[in-house]
Amino acid sequence: MKEILDIILRSYKGYASSLWETITHPFGDYNYFTLLILVSFGVWCLELIFPWRKKQSAIRKGFWIDAFYMFFNFYIFNLIIFTALSNTTAHLFGDLISSIGFSEWRLFDFSGLSPLVQFIIYFLVADFIQWSIHQLLHRVPWMWKFHKVHHSVTEMGFSAHLRYHFMENIFYRTGMYIFLGYLFNFKLEHAFFLHGATIIIGHINHANIGWDYGPLKYIFNNPKMHIWHHAKDLPKSHPHGMNFGISLSLWDYIFGTNYIPSNGRDIPLGFDKIEEYPTNFFVQQTEGFNSKE
Ligand SMILES: [Zn+2]
Ligand SMILES: [Zn+2]
Repeated sequence: MKEILDIILRSYKGYASSLWETITHPFGDYNYFTLLILVSFGVWCLELIFPWRKKQSAIRKGFWIDAFYMFFNFYIFNLIIFTALSNTTAHLFGDLISSIGFSEWRLFDFSGLSPLVQFIIYFLVADFIQWSIHQLLHRVPWMWKFHKVHHSVTEMGFSAHLRYHFMENIFYRTGMYIFLGYLFNFKLEHAFFLHGATIIIGHINHANIGWDYGPLKYIFNNPKMHIWHHAKDLPKSHPHGMNFGISLSLWDYIFGTNYIPSNGRDIPLGFDKIEEYPTNFFVQQTEGFNSKE
């Protein structure tokens, strides 16, 4: 127990100093704060220059709560719980693996490959794991209650990307730790670029921009595809939802969960009885823990 407390304390100290470094050196190397601000500002400009729904205002419905979610999920949640929790999880998982005699066990070892190839493999595998977890969030009722926060957007724009319940961090990180940390024996030095790429693609997927990248739409997720993921009315053919892709659309095309029946520019977004869903941030945080339907 003391060991775990030590890890938590060390994590807080480490995170607090790196947070301070991030804030005091906005143009230092690998600054996530600057990255988020620059990408958000850049994609917002694209929305204003190439608006898909021309009548949608620059500060759309839900913009401010989304802006708050963006920083909460990116920073505050990290500071409060995530860093400590994930270091502890990694540590405990390491203990578990070695206690059953697999201390140096890895399924794959990519350390001999070039950094670019490692980057591509990591990107593909990470995206596939997240696509699978995203499916679970829709199919498992108690997980869907948390994921509903992300689907409570009724007017789509870039900042909706990071509107999600903090429990999603736990679901996604657990999956990533188990499969990436322990099945793959390589450390990614360019995690910052990977993170940057996923933020840019994710912001654009939610932006008010009518893009689909032509033939590349079969590889990369895009706004014209992701808007159908947020459709209020689900088709009979996909009762649990469709277009689960995070950065890549590839998995949906391979496994038949793709669905773009027409131009989704003006489709109603959300879920059944969305009018009754709370719009307050704090109430949204507690909704998922409620036992009632
Ligand atoms: Zn979803
Ligand atoms: Zn979305």
